[in-house]
Amino acid sequence: MEQTRVPHVVLLPYPAYGHIKPMLTLAELFSHAGFRVTFVNTEQYHDRLLGNNDVTGFYKRFPNFRFTSIPDGLPPDNPRFGIYIKDWFCSDKPVSKLAFLQLLMSPGLLPTCIISDSIMSFTIDVAEELNIPIITFRPYSAHCSWSDFHFSKLAEEGELPVTNENFDKPVKCIPGLENFFRNRDLPSICRDGGPDDPILQTFIRDTSATTRASALVINTFNEIEGPIISKLGSRLTKIYTVGPLHALLKSRIQEDSAESSPPESNNCVLSKEDRSCMTWLDSQPSRSVLYVSFGSFIKLGREQILEFWHGMVNSGKRFLWVIRSDLIDGEPGVGPVPVELDQGTKERGCIVSWAPQEEVLAHQAIGGFLTHSGWNSTLESLVAGVPMICWPQIGDQQVNSRCVSEIWKIGLDMKDTCDRSTIENLARDLMDNKRDKIMESTVQIAKMARDAVKEGGSSYRNLEKLIEDIRSMAFKA
Ligand code: UDP
Repeated sequence: MEQTRVPHVVLLPYPAYGHIKPMLTLAELFSHAGFRVTFVNTEQYHDRLLGNNDVTGFYKRFPNFRFTSIPDGLPPDNPRFGIYIKDWFCSDKPVSKLAFLQLLMSPGLLPTCIISDSIMSFTIDVAEELNIPIITFRPYSAHCSWSDFHFSKLAEEGELPVTNENFDKPVKCIPGLENFFRNRDLPSICRDGGPDDPILQTFIRDTSATTRASALVINTFNEIEGPIISKLGSRLTKIYTVGPLHALLKSRIQEDSAESSPPESNNCVLSKEDRSCMTWLDSQPSRSVLYVSFGSFIKLGREQILEFWHGMVNSGKRFLWVIRSDLIDGEPGVGPVPVELDQGTKERGCIVSWAPQEEVLAHQAIGGFLTHSGWNSTLESLVAGVPMICWPQIGDQQVNSRCVSEIWKIGLDMKDTCDRSTIENLARDLMDNKRDKIMESTVQIAKMARDAVKEGGSSYRNLEKLIEDIRSMAFKA
């Protein structure tokens, strides 16, 4: 019977935690809306996800949800990091493409709609081959997405690569960013190579391919990026802004728990959380702690670690620092720790290898966030009303830190520096000297974010519309 058709959505994130996490949140929202969901990771991430989570419990809460995997085609011993995945990223990914096609053709799996990460354009070829509607997903800001659409133009106008010599030149060829962006604020790919750089060319190819999809879902909200979202809309068929997704999921689940006993949020993780930091935070004064984390992916040299450490200890501020087991480039571990750092940490610090970040940011003891400006971290801090010190390294992080410091004015940008005195000074500025001014906009923007995900808010309504549109695809199928 036509009326009882349950939509089936297949979601495929790019294999990196910062991409998987928001797409998984979107998948949970679909499942919560009664859709059947198939979530496809590459085999290595699938195994990590299943190894670190209670998947049986998850399936109980979301009975229509299935995790599955496809190979990435790389040899098993490839570390799948940085340069090691460059060739895969730049290729047509033939092994994954064939496996994805076969997966979709397996009995009973043909979906109503595919939701694919916007940098996995082989999925658009597959969708067209099978005549399945496809929507792309961007776990980045609209400002970054809009910059990506201008890589060809930047190359044509001889602006690439961005180098130390032209870092401070204003960006003139991206409408809407002229008054805010310098070359150093463009996505890091603009620094890496010239116009023929294979990664840049892959971004150009994948960004252009997204215009063939039925729509774009983006993890942002109209109230902070409205003008740029409108510009992006001129290039795409349709855009659904549904962010901040982590807050939207909480809002939907809380709303329903008032009425019945709905599925809880899953918070699937790829690393075990060390919750001892929550007990430590409980014993710290209100808004006194600087939370320091560089996300799931980037690496630091030992010298950089020591500069940060000296800067934090010298600032006299309390700090909670995530040092992942794979954070340090080269040798495992930090090596010998100078006695003054050891002492300063015992007095005022706490170090863990992975924290429950959303909970940490929501804790009353947290007064600031020293971050690498990944988009998930930025949104999580923004929702929690925690001002930031930004130390961007790769990808979209340079863009995000500029938005935080110059457009939204909810943080300080220490882009392209890494010395102990800058860190010490910025920690004091954020926590004391410049705090009142920064907190004015931080509180305002946090309210906008929370309002966007409440019933009737912009992202709340856009999710409803997206769900409705996918339902109508199921009826047409
Ligand atoms: N994260 C976490 N615990 C940690 C460090 C990071 O839960 O100790 C999460 C964080 O909440 C965020 C994600 O990891 O959702 C990192 O994503 P982001 O986009 O900020 O950076 P990426 O890892 O992609 O560089």
